[in-house]
Amino acid sequence: MNRIAVIGSGFSGLSAACFAAARGQKVTLFEKNNMIGGRARAFSEQGFTFDMGPSWYWMPDIFEDFFAAFNKRPEDYYKLVRLDPGFQMIFGKNDILRIPAELKDIYELFEQTETGSADKLRKFLAEGKFKYTVGMQKLVYKPSFSWLEFANREVISGAAKLQLFKSVSSHVRSYFKDERLIALMEFPVLFLGATAKKIPALYSLMNYAALSLGTWYPMGGMVEIIKAMEKLALSLDVDILTGCEVNKINVLKERSVKINTTKGNFMTDGIIATGDYHHIEQNLLDRPYRNYNEAYWNKKTLAPSCLIFYIGVSKKVKKLIHHNLFFDASMESHSAEIYTNPKWPTNPLFYVCCPSKTDETVAPEEMENLFLLIPIAPGLEDTEATREYYYRHIIKRMEELCDDSIMPYVVYKKSYCINDFVSDYHAYKGNAYGLANTIRQTAVLKPSLRNKKVKNMFYAGQLTVPGPGVPPALISGQIAAKELLNYLK
Ligand SMILES: Cc1cc2nc3c(=O)[nH]c(=O)nc-3n(C[C@H](O)[C@H](O)[C@H](O)COP(=O)(O)OP(=O)(O)OC[C@H]3O[C@@H](n4cnc5c(N)ncnc54)[C@H](O)[C@@H]3O)c2cc1C
Repeated sequence: MNRIAVIGSGFSGLSAACFAAARGQKVTLFEKNNMIGGRARAFSEQGFTFDMGPSWYWMPDIFEDFFAAFNKRPEDYYKLVRLDPGFQMIFGKNDILRIPAELKDIYELFEQTETGSADKLRKFLAEGKFKYTVGMQKLVYKPSFSWLEFANREVISGAAKLQLFKSVSSHVRSYFKDERLIALMEFPVLFLGATAKKIPALYSLMNYAALSLGTWYPMGGMVEIIKAMEKLALSLDVDILTGCEVNKINVLKERSVKINTTKGNFMTDGIIATGDYHHIEQNLLDRPYRNYNEAYWNKKTLAPSCLIFYIGVSKKVKKLIHHNLFFDASMESHSAEIYTNPKWPTNPLFYVCCPSKTDETVAPEEMENLFLLIPIAPGLEDTEATREYYYRHIIKRMEELCDDSIMPYVVYKKSYCINDFVSDYHAYKGNAYGLANTIRQTAVLKPSLRNKKVKNMFYAGQLTVPGPGVPPALISGQIAAKELLNYLK
């Protein structure tokens, strides 16, 4: 039995810990914060329970596959409900697209919005299904050490259909003309950290995930998945140490590493580092053991950061549903202010999650739990005054578009932005979602999952393969555990 240290308790760290422990290793998980979950932590105040980060449960099959690897099912731990409508896009006060759960209703909605678009959507989703099947079953589970890993019959013969060299934007526009349908089809890739013009059309698999596989919610909140993984990890004898920051990784000799933490020193035979990749390399490892230097990181395209408000409202808010995307401003201008000319956005798009529409446990009776998010460029100056400016700006817009008064009913408010991402997670430039999935940062071109100098050290999480998001984080931990155990055996 080897001793394995996993640094970080987000989805990728918990996944890595479970996979390594299930293969008979003695795993210790080190987490700097006082609770586990990383970006998916939750907190409770005044009767409200707020998920701090992820709120969209997409790709339920990936969660099923994760638990199935341990002979479990998600429903052994949490109750999953399918949201109907899945989400809404608000383009104006009386201009709202509500996306139903059933595909037949989605086709109808498309046809009403643009004549002939239902048939086009059928074709689009059939292509998306192929991409999803190959992408999520064949491509994302590769460690991406070499392009040769991708040289299998299905991938090569389907290469043209995977559309790696066309952008999502031109793909979507070759099908649909209505600007609202285009926005609907382009928005899912914003999760991948770049505009639809920069993301390969392979990722229209996200439309298949969003529209065909559905939008789900674990009752109690996304944190229920973390609680489930914690239970699983404990059942596999993983030692979880919270409030235990790793300060130094000392490479002693082959297979032997000493890690210094705020709770003492630990010897280990192998490491899976799932905290911020840049922080782990630049601050915890001596120079000869790093894969990359500062100049490398500086050239990388990060996914956006964000400004978040967790708000408790002492009444029910009209017009909101569980997931609400406020697209009443120009996506192009906002994107330019994130990627091309990074600055605080002039008139941002924003997202509002209102889980209390589905789940009465997350807010007191007759009250609303709101999570407001504005995507912003990473690395911007983050001050209280700026946060307050945007708070007022988006509440006002929300009030107008929802035709409801909100500000006077706010009974709880907390903001979270770049400075918090840095202090809570050591996030490079305060990134929220890791590294963008652009064509130049895909698979082998991402920061490597393995430390090329320290053979018993691997990385996992949103800054390495396969990329940002909860399902990729689960997969990343699984791949890292497998590669480390292959090396140690
Ligand atoms: C606001 C927000 C909304 C999101 N929404 C969605 C969504 O709706 N759906 C979706 O699929 N994805 C979403 N994502 C992305 C998703 O949450 C992340 O990609 C995923 O949770 C990342 O998991 P991780 O394990 O890579 O990293 P993290 O969750 O960041 O975990 C890394 C952990 O390492 C710890 N750590 C760092 N350094 C050290 C150290 N030196 N010693 C010990 N511990 C250390 C950190 O404290 C942290 O707990 C969202 C992210 C954010 C921020």
